[in-house]
Amino acid sequence: MEPENNQRRNTDHFNLLCDMSELTTILADSKNIAHFLRQTARMVARHLHADVCSIYLFDDQRHELVLRATIGLNPASEGKVRLKSGEGLVGMAMLSRQPVCEGFASSSRHFKYFEETGEERFESFLAVPIIRGIENIGVLVVQHSQRDYFDETDMMALKATASQLAGAIENARLLMDMAETPQRGACVPESLRFVRGRSASSGFALAPCVKFEKAGALLFDDDLTEAGSHLGMAEFQEAFHKTLEQLKTLQDRFAQRLPESASLIFTAHFMILKDSRFHTEIMAKIQAGMDACRAVKAVTRHYIAMFSASPYLYLREKVIDMQDLGARLIENLMDRNTDSHGGLQHRIVIAKELYPSDILKLASQDVAGIVLVSGGITSHVSILAQSLQIPTLIVDKPDLLTIPDNTPVLMDADIGNLYVDPSQRILKQFEERNSARVQASRLSRQMEPATCTADGERVHLYANINLLSELPLANQLLAEGIGLYRSEFPFIIRSNFPSEEEQYQIYKRLIEQMPGKPVVIRTLDIGGDKVLAYSDSTGEANPELGLRSIRFSLQNTEIFEQQIRAVLRAGADHPDVGIMFPMICSLDELREAKTVVLRCIADLSKNGLSHQGRIRIGMMVELPSVIPILDELAAESDFLSIGTNDFVQYMLAVDRTNEKVAQYYQPGHPAVLRGLHAIVQAAIRQGKPVSVCGELAHEPEYIAFLIGIGVRRLSVNPQYLPHTQQIIRQLELRKAQSYASTLLCKATVRETSEILMHYREYLEMAPVES
Ligand code: PEP
Ligand code: MG
Repeated sequence: MEPENNQRRNTDHFNLLCDMSELTTILADSKNIAHFLRQTARMVARHLHADVCSIYLFDDQRHELVLRATIGLNPASEGKVRLKSGEGLVGMAMLSRQPVCEGFASSSRHFKYFEETGEERFESFLAVPIIRGIENIGVLVVQHSQRDYFDETDMMALKATASQLAGAIENARLLMDMAETPQRGACVPESLRFVRGRSASSGFALAPCVKFEKAGALLFDDDLTEAGSHLGMAEFQEAFHKTLEQLKTLQDRFAQRLPESASLIFTAHFMILKDSRFHTEIMAKIQAGMDACRAVKAVTRHYIAMFSASPYLYLREKVIDMQDLGARLIENLMDRNTDSHGGLQHRIVIAKELYPSDILKLASQDVAGIVLVSGGITSHVSILAQSLQIPTLIVDKPDLLTIPDNTPVLMDADIGNLYVDPSQRILKQFEERNSARVQASRLSRQMEPATCTADGERVHLYANINLLSELPLANQLLAEGIGLYRSEFPFIIRSNFPSEEEQYQIYKRLIEQMPGKPVVIRTLDIGGDKVLAYSDSTGEANPELGLRSIRFSLQNTEIFEQQIRAVLRAGADHPDVGIMFPMICSLDELREAKTVVLRCIADLSKNGLSHQGRIRIGMMVELPSVIPILDELAAESDFLSIGTNDFVQYMLAVDRTNEKVAQYYQPGHPAVLRGLHAIVQAAIRQGKPVSVCGELAHEPEYIAFLIGIGVRRLSVNPQYLPHTQQIIRQLELRKAQSYASTLLCKATVRETSEILMHYREYLEMAPVES
């Protein structure tokens, strides 16, 4: 083909992908699925200059591919042409899960002619399977009357389109099912039956739903408590003790799951329960003739009003604890048989907003999933949900709060779908998929102890740890150590700064569970969206650019020193502990922070306290300001770790949590890629280890780039370890290097995105190692 033609084709292919993403977004609200499929077929045909484009979907009831939409074949054949897997060229594409390309289709032994289609004129045939993970969704086909019309680049473009289509088509299929299924549960409006959202923590859940605000409802709805108007002092005493016991049980259960916060979650509840004023006031009201329910309500409401009026955020947060406690007391008074208020256990909780501490409470009550309907979410709420492995979706549909409690809800937080009161058919599809997923994830957890590329280059894989409860998984998946411990979690989930002793206990547990392996503890990285309710640093106009992270530590040296001492003491007997400073912006700041560490070591020695005096001291590379001075910084650091989440944010001036600018958050931006290259080069020049611990470290198309530019250490959330290892094992160093060089040569986001996207599609199509 002529170079000019080639150029045009490439541009068409790229436009196709762009249009596709637009179309799949539109689909979220589209009712007319047949129309969506036809529009898709039309668009593909146009961009690929094909005479025909057809979409076949897999009917898993009859195990057949059905022609659902076509442009170019006889439209009357839609819904009529059916093929078994392996039957005809289309069926072959499905069976082999590989593209099928024929330049002279009618001579192929697999060709199968359907009279109703009128397709005999089209000799060139290209089909790619539409698959999602291990699941077959359908086949996308293009045809042309000219022989040998489709080439390698068409195949790549069609593969990329099919992959983008997979999620959308799956939704389309489910929507079609919904449209065909007679209405159930009339109290759920049609617009809420299928809702698209954004995943904050992946996973799958099917459970009855419950609204989170329920805790307070009992306190404000007089009808609800009318039934308890005969209850008096004896019942109150009984309910009081029952509540105390329930909370202790909950706390014990939680201690195993989240040791660093075990005693904290219900602190406020216990404090109030044990505060003599609280129950004396209730008892006084009962003695004065009020029934027990009303007395509890009145006193609880009084406390709520007091906390709500407080100028301090941490006290205002107590309103929720107070509501929870009051509701528990009333439930126990009325002998409603719930061991957790409103029976949250194994339910999908729909909430308007959640604090990090709420997530912990929900986890303690074993909720099945969380749906946040108000949109905004801090990254720590989502990191907590991920660490606790609670599927969490963010949707912009406050109406979901009107769904009656106990309505069955199915959430697929892998792709962001929510189904309210799903049909039997949808349920069946998901059950099959879920069991396949469980099986696949079991298989994928077979880790090799050492990770090497296909041609033997060693890459070290470490775990990012946010909560101690993630350590068993990190060990089970053979993490080679901890590349990033986010020490702010114990700070975020409590209502005051943890003491040196409390921190020491936490770090000790962390270190002890990684015997002999490197452990890097990052100092407090709060501020930005990681807000401490009890610290004054809230309320800044520009929190991401405010008094956060190492700046906060250096301005609050007492808190900083307590933390450093706790780390040094906890690491006393461990051969390889590192302290890492987040958000370093200058050599001066690095030196200042190091001085604090050296001062703490000197103090501990002077006081004869056992500690680690030979600790490694490193810094995170997260700000663009450090790139020009990186040689000097690397020379004075023992190691570097690139925090790509923030690096992208600051490099491109895009708030990483602001949905409105999400499209500007472009890790593939040439400035980001070249910046990463410059950082790694400086580390190599200075002979210092460099790792990547941001989310890019587990993104397939970036793993190859990072290896290509010389990164040999990656730190990822434990659950990503198997998949990261698998990607690396399939890489060849030379190819990764040339892929990285190609990306580094490009100056526009458009070019780099195209290369990254193609690479990702290529990896998704590659056979998975068993
Ligand atoms: C990062 O910024 O990439 C990083 C790892 O730190 P955090 O996500 O905790 O800000
Ligand atoms: Mg960061």
